[in-house]
Amino acid sequence: MTAPQSTRSLSIVVPAYNEEKNLPEFFRRVVPVLESVTPDFEIIFAIDPCSDGTEEMLRKQAELSPRVKVIKFSRRFGQAMAILAGCQYARGDAVIVMDADLQDPPELIPEMWAEFQAGFDVVMLQRRERHGETWVRRLLAGAGYAVINWIAEVEIPRNVGEFRLMSRRVVCELNRLKECHGFLRGLIAFIGFKQKIITFDRPARHAGTTNYSAFIPNIRNGLHGLVCFSGSLLKLSTTLGICCAFGAFLLAFAYAVIQILQRPFPLGNPTIVILCLFMGGIQLICLGIIGEYISRIYEEVRERPKFIVDYALGLQEHPKL
Ligand code: UDP
Ligand code: MG
Repeated sequence: MTAPQSTRSLSIVVPAYNEEKNLPEFFRRVVPVLESVTPDFEIIFAIDPCSDGTEEMLRKQAELSPRVKVIKFSRRFGQAMAILAGCQYARGDAVIVMDADLQDPPELIPEMWAEFQAGFDVVMLQRRERHGETWVRRLLAGAGYAVINWIAEVEIPRNVGEFRLMSRRVVCELNRLKECHGFLRGLIAFIGFKQKIITFDRPARHAGTTNYSAFIPNIRNGLHGLVCFSGSLLKLSTTLGICCAFGAFLLAFAYAVIQILQRPFPLGNPTIVILCLFMGGIQLICLGIIGEYISRIYEEVRERPKFIVDYALGLQEHPKL
């Protein structure tokens, strides 16, 4: 589907970390698509310090074309902060966030742009298939979304990644948010406005391997969704406490009945050990949940900058962050 040429401007924000092998193909496929939708576009790469030739390649491209812009971080801040930095600098009427590895097909941009022209503020891409991902990751993602949507205050669409279009007013709202956890899907759901979902088959990476194969960071990201968008887990300790107290009351009642009826019962050590372990486990779980919230409060109250920029090429105006 091709959208008519528009006078509105478009910024593409691309987080990139060691993407040297993907960049030539990225430019080859993205630029003609952008030229077909609007004459007024910019491509902003937000990069972590890379160990391959990504930075040099992008600096060269920025010299060749004023449309290519580069933000380089002082250290590795990661994909979410790269997206937030790109949004701070972007000047387009719409901003599209997409990965540098071509897992977000540029050929879908005209369709996203058409939805934007039709009045949608957020156009999200939902993965139909998750090619190139292990079944463990798929299972984790499915379970994570189910739990988050069960308890979160906002509805977070399933299988929607960071590939999305946002209108200027959504980007302005995003820039106003001070939260530093980087769970962008939740923040976009919180912002609201007119949202549209387009489904697509997510291809495997053009080259290289994913930066998110590790188990712990994926779990941590899911926990951000649970903890930052719901206070329900805190209430869980109250529910567990009530259940335990009720269980203890039932047990005491059962003991009393057994004593009165003078029936044999394995009283003593086993019961005490089981009860101690049970209560200890519950208390530690509750403490752990409280700890998750407190650590996030600690992160937020420090009010450290979300990212630190080493240099910004082609982006004269340094926005107030
Ligand atoms: N990325 C980044 N900083 C990081 C990790 C990843 O800027 O610390 C970029 C990466 O270059 C890519 C995007 O974020 O453009 C998505 O990363 P990746 O493809 O590894 O994740 P996946 O698509 O497997 O979720
Ligand atoms: Mg990828």
